[in-house]
Amino acid sequence: MRYISTRGQAPALGFEDVLLTGLAPDGGLYVPEFLPRFSPEEISSWRGLSYEELAFKVVFPFVEEAIPADDFREMLAETYRVFAHKAVAPLVQIDSNEWVMELFRGPTLAFKDFALQLLGRLLDYVLERRNQHVVIMGATSGDTGSAAIEGCRHCKHVDIFILHPHERVSEVQRRQMTTVPGENIHNLAIRGNFDDCQQMVKESFGQQAFLGGKTQLVAVNSINWARIMAQIVYYFHASLALGGPQRSMAFSVPTGNFGDVFAGYLAREMGLPIEQLVVATNRNDILHRFFSGNRYEKHALAHSLSPSMDIMISSNFERLLFDLYGRDGKAVDDLLKSFQSGPVQIEDHRWKRARALFDSYAVDDDLTCATISRVFTECEYLLDPHTAIGVEAARKCRRDAGTPMITLGTAHPAKFPEAVRRSSISVEPKLPLHLDDLFDREERYTVLDNDRQQVQDFIARNWKFAG
Ligand SMILES: *Cc1c(COP(=O)(O)O)cnc(C)c1O
Repeated sequence: MRYISTRGQAPALGFEDVLLTGLAPDGGLYVPEFLPRFSPEEISSWRGLSYEELAFKVVFPFVEEAIPADDFREMLAETYRVFAHKAVAPLVQIDSNEWVMELFRGPTLAFKDFALQLLGRLLDYVLERRNQHVVIMGATSGDTGSAAIEGCRHCKHVDIFILHPHERVSEVQRRQMTTVPGENIHNLAIRGNFDDCQQMVKESFGQQAFLGGKTQLVAVNSINWARIMAQIVYYFHASLALGGPQRSMAFSVPTGNFGDVFAGYLAREMGLPIEQLVVATNRNDILHRFFSGNRYEKHALAHSLSPSMDIMISSNFERLLFDLYGRDGKAVDDLLKSFQSGPVQIEDHRWKRARALFDSYAVDDDLTCATISRVFTECEYLLDPHTAIGVEAARKCRRDAGTPMITLGTAHPAKFPEAVRRSSISVEPKLPLHLDDLFDREERYTVLDNDRQQVQDFIARNWKFAG
């Protein structure tokens, strides 16, 4: 499998190189040159497989030139063994034909563990073979940082530096990052906001000379193709559990950077019958405004009770645009360049194609809390604020009551207790057993000024083979 850039101007790469890259040199994102396609008979034959066996069927075609089958099987077995539920992604029914797929049974209680647990293992495998060491540098407002740290804590060939805004992430989220032991884990609390952190990371990728030519930076945000790839699996998993592929399914996906829902789109392109994908946003609703009115326009960032979906622009949306433009990289480049200077529209026939599959809805904080409390009243099931947005959007956008509607449960409610408290229900979400002592564990982090030079010096001095 070869991977090409959505801007059409960068050379195609194999899986191994795509894994170790961030953006393509032309500014685009990598996507597979073509997708594997599975027949309904083949998909049916996977019923009854364990999660990791299913993951092998779905993901192996993307990596087969780079990784021998047995090694990949072993990696998947290790990856999904760390999840605290035997079914890995259990389905919970919340209404007559409505379900939540719990993707928060991993070590950091958010769906990002599905991809980052695998990514860490893939990186170490490939780096061992190349006899190479890399530095991961990433910025986080919460979930990505902890999932990346947990995913890489056992990597021998990776140092990981995660920047978070000092005193601006929740205590649970901070502790999930700073209490993980390991010489290769470095938490940097920056005296600034999340945008400052992200800006520093972005600029550092373009100035890698600060590492003295001895190592390179690797990205762990969802521009990394390997993350998207791992997320395709659970769409197949849910469908098979509820009678697919003979029945079609609908999914509602709490959306920020459009990575998770794009994985659903890919599952459908690979042959899984999916009738509807609901793009659920909070009041940072650029995607909802696009899908409902064909206007792609940046608004100022608003802080919400669902912080992992607080984005101005969704980076992975470019991957969908590439397909809507018939994989014409030049056209995508032109469109996104004109977006730099103001709102854009796409031709009506392209927009209608997108609308045939995607519906969307934006849910504000009040409605998020009302949904948490409604669902708790209806079935004593406690939603986190991100998942609640998915459940509410599913209800508003549903096309056919006969089609199972599955909302992706993206986080555990104990990760976001503030929203649950504001929902005025009388329960306090409890952390699962493996995190029971989170508040007693020792923390380790370094506070630095909002100064790129200082941060780069720190990294240059503290990675494994520094000096
Ligand atoms: C990251 C995240 C999202 C958004 O996922 P995208 O792939 O960026 O659309 C939603 N909910 C939670 C809890 C998250 O951590």
